[in-house]
Amino acid sequence: MSTILYLTQIEFGPGVRSTLPRALTEIGVKRPLVVSDPGVAESGLLDQATEGAAPDAPRFLDVPPNPTEAAVTAALAIYRAEECDGLIAVGGGSPIDLAKGVALLAAHSGQLESYAAIYGGIVRIGAVAPVIAMPTTAGTGAEVGRAALLTLADGRKLGFISPNLIPKRAICDPELTLGLPRRLTAATGLDALSHCIETFLSPRINPPAESIALDGAGRIWRNIRNAAAHGQNLDTRTEMMMGALEGGLAFQKGLGAVHALSHALGGLPDLKLHHGTLNAILMPAVVRFNADHVGDKLDRLKKAIGLDQSDDLADELDRANVELGIPTGLGALGVTEQMFEWIVERALADHSTPTNPRQPTAEDYRALLTQAMY
Ligand SMILES: [Zn+2]
Repeated sequence: MSTILYLTQIEFGPGVRSTLPRALTEIGVKRPLVVSDPGVAESGLLDQATEGAAPDAPRFLDVPPNPTEAAVTAALAIYRAEECDGLIAVGGGSPIDLAKGVALLAAHSGQLESYAAIYGGIVRIGAVAPVIAMPTTAGTGAEVGRAALLTLADGRKLGFISPNLIPKRAICDPELTLGLPRRLTAATGLDALSHCIETFLSPRINPPAESIALDGAGRIWRNIRNAAAHGQNLDTRTEMMMGALEGGLAFQKGLGAVHALSHALGGLPDLKLHHGTLNAILMPAVVRFNADHVGDKLDRLKKAIGLDQSDDLADELDRANVELGIPTGLGALGVTEQMFEWIVERALADHSTPTNPRQPTAEDYRALLTQAMY
């Protein structure tokens, strides 16, 4: 077990969920709203995570796979009716992002849209209600991230970004990930890997973040196959959780075209596509697209994850996708070429596009989508 103070206070290690009651006291939350999703609740994980903490706390479990403005509004109504003073989010990125949305609107007036990063919302977000985040996947890094991705009523999936949105406490207990099925272990782990790779390749200058990203990429690459195949191995799960946490600690440096495209794709109203699966599929094509614009960084990345310098990183990512059972392309998920213009328009406007090492045009994004189809 360890306590890490970096961006926020992080309790990390098997069993640290027992620190939740103390965390509530320390950050002064007396009546939390517990936010989770039906799968986490039905599996018993929610009870396991919150055992001994605020037993009569109200719960909001209707978190969609890509959290929506409507769900934020519904949770906020319960938060207000129950006179809550903070939130506990238990689950993957969706409950944590939704809790951040509620925390924002609990302390701010006006429309959610006006706080979106692309509309200048970053400077308008002040102090928000306190959030404690307890991840049950090793993937999103949302437990230490300053962004929430929320889909507005018209389908735009927007980023809400502020240091004030970082949860006041992250409780990262790898025992909560032991039962994660193989498919989700792979997809969420590859999301975490994409955070480390994209933020390392981002052109912003931030060597401390890059060092964290390299360490995270190495932990994930060395453990993801084992975690998928032998989910009950606590040591492997602990390495994956640390790698995902490191991705979240690093990605404030900025992400890139993988995330710009996957944010857009995640907003497609009818498909409800999984963020990590999308990133896994998009990553090889984007790494190839960026390869000539990142100096020696691909070599440094290969060294950090234990590949030979003669290996091709994009090919290795393709190979990992096959080994881990990731769908073969966007086409297999139901994406069609008729959707490309809708996706490209949103990807170009996404907050992750400016920090891609090579500025993609609409034509570039169309080509990347085409490459990722099959
Ligand atoms: Zn991501």
